[in-house]
Order: sequence, then structure tokens, then C-alpha cells
Amino acid sequence: MSTLLKVLFVVLLYVVWRYLVAVVRRGQRREPELKPTTGHMLVRDPVCNTYLPESRALTATSDGETLYFCSEECRQKHLKSKT
Ligand SMILES: [Zn+2]
Repeated sequence: MSTLLKVLFVVLLYVVWRYLVAVVRRGQRREPELKPTTGHMLVRDPVCNTYLPESRALTATSDGETLYFCSEECRQKHLKSKT
């Protein structure tokens, strides 16, 4: 009888453990989805003066300086104005 109780206890522990692992894994899986928003430092598009998240900006290097643009159109305008 006590052996049966031990087995039941172990099974219960196992079920609880699996449940906890599943919860932790679900929590970890959500983190990568949130990560893109961590790169939301705002940068300014010098062509149209729009502020946008760095992660969404297009970049161009000018005189060793990195510039950010809201769209390919703005990037091209900047590149043309340089010449
Ligand atoms: Zn722009």
C-alpha cells in the first residue's frame, strides 16, 4: 500500500514538473517576440525629418557616419543630394 502511495506521489511530482516546464518554456518562447521592440531607439531621417525605430530604418554610410532613412525613397534623395 505504501509502495502504491509512493508511486502515486512520484507520478504526481512528474505531472507537476512537466506542467512547470511547459509554463517556463511558454514564457521563454514569448521573449523573442518581444525582442524586436527592444531595438526601438528612435533615429531621425535627415531627408523628411521623421523619427522612426532604428530596427525599421534603412541605413546609409556617409563620411563614416551612419544615417537612417524611413524609406528607400528618402535614402535615394539623400544620396542624390550628396552629388
Ligand atoms: Zn523619410
